[in-house]
Amino acid sequence: MIIDFHAHIFPPHIQANRAPYLARDHTFSHLYSDPKARLSTADELVEKMDAWGIQVAVTVNMGWSVHEFCVETNDYILESARRFPDRLVPFCVVNPALGDRAVEEVERCAMLGARGIGELHSYAQGYRLDDSKVMGPVMEVAQRHGLIVLTHSSEPVGHDYPGKGTVTPEQLSGFINDFPDATIVCAHWGGGLPFYALMPEVRESLKNVYFDTAASPFLYTSQVFPTVVAAIGHEKILFGTDYPLISYKRLLGQVDGLGWPQHVKDGVLGGNGARLLGL
Ligand SMILES: [Zn+2]
Repeated sequence: MIIDFHAHIFPPHIQANRAPYLARDHTFSHLYSDPKARLSTADELVEKMDAWGIQVAVTVNMGWSVHEFCVETNDYILESARRFPDRLVPFCVVNPALGDRAVEEVERCAMLGARGIGELHSYAQGYRLDDSKVMGPVMEVAQRHGLIVLTHSSEPVGHDYPGKGTVTPEQLSGFINDFPDATIVCAHWGGGLPFYALMPEVRESLKNVYFDTAASPFLYTSQVFPTVVAAIGHEKILFGTDYPLISYKRLLGQVDGLGWPQHVKDGVLGGNGARLLGL
């Protein structure tokens, strides 16, 4: 089974006219001001999944700064998962900086079937993940409902790109240490955090943490796959594309080219994600 652990979908009306959302939302304007930055609907995603033999996709939201946009798009993601119940796993989002409204929205989404929170974009939403006063209330509800928390992550070095942000291993590490029992997925290889798993205390702190491969070809050479396996183990890696940013052809091609033993390939492409989601 292949699971794409990181695919973005948006309602058709936002795909058709993004201008009003760009005008009001800080994160959305960071990520999607460029008209070439594509938006995709649930139906388009499922069509691509069918074409490439992807059985399941975790459909993540993005870290809207405006609360009503979180709610509106969460509803679309939840409704899409009801339309494709065996194919899409819904992750909803909130802006934790907004306090009670965010907590209530996590509660509402959990009741409606959300399996996770994410993708959080703290730098654009106006808080830090390692600020436990902001994150505490949201994490309490998320953990009570068994939700996975997926956050954007970025490299402290290297080239700049739209939406890179400042969620580097240092900030991620503070967050992870604040909530050691939470199940956390750090997107985009955790901005390089797995490399520090060579330090025993960091490895120990990552016991409930996973890393997805979203956007990998934009960031690293394919050597990142064996390097992270060596640093922290293949059980920690979740295949994710950042759909529609990276095509299935490109990322599956990279994984195929690694010459991995079948059990490692099966785990990364779907087994690890299936275990995490209880599929
Ligand atoms: Zn991201």
